[in-house]
Amino acid sequence: MTVAFLLDVDNTLLDNDGLKAWGDRAIRDAVGDDQADRFWELYEETRHATGVVDYPATFARLREETRDDGLVRQTERLVYDAPFPKFLFPRALEVIARLWSIGTVVVLSDGDPVYQPLKIERSGIAQAARGNVLVYDHKETHLDDVTARFPERHYAHVDDKASLLAATKARLHGRVTTVHVRQGHYADDPPHGVAPDIVVDHIAELETLPAERFGA
Ligand SMILES: [Mg+2]
Repeated sequence: MTVAFLLDVDNTLLDNDGLKAWGDRAIRDAVGDDQADRFWELYEETRHATGVVDYPATFARLREETRDDGLVRQTERLVYDAPFPKFLFPRALEVIARLWSIGTVVVLSDGDPVYQPLKIERSGIAQAARGNVLVYDHKETHLDDVTARFPERHYAHVDDKASLLAATKARLHGRVTTVHVRQGHYADDPPHGVAPDIVVDHIAELETLPAERFGA
């Protein structure tokens, strides 16, 4: 049976908690605590308003209220030019290569249309996924689009958010195998909906998991 792997990025392939902590330290060092605090306030306000992390919108709001454009540009540069490959989880790219030996790999990520694709590109994930990268504002509402673009008999959805896996299961039922990677700050979320088919503590474990387990 052919299978398409739908791979999440943040806290699944890449340590996004670590990346955000790195960004916070770098921004504080560069522009000071007051400016950094205000930046993160706007980041959270934007996230609450749209339900998704949106750096371009955050910078637009910061630019509106700050007279010093140099400070904004400095902050922007730190966010967009972060050392993304350093934050890949161990064996993340090797796992992608291994999954290609079983089926098709598709990166399925949530985020804004500027920063998120840039992060996926600069981390090396886009190349490993051979350009199969889909970024949505709320990916769980675009599953029909995903399955239309990559029509396969079976899917394996790999994610750090159990609630998203349950949503995919509710839509695709027996056509999907769900894989919960318990990394990052969602790792210990209380169970939500249908339990995942497979639970691992590290993405590296997918390098050796038997292909049949994914429904292949
Ligand atoms: Mg994630």
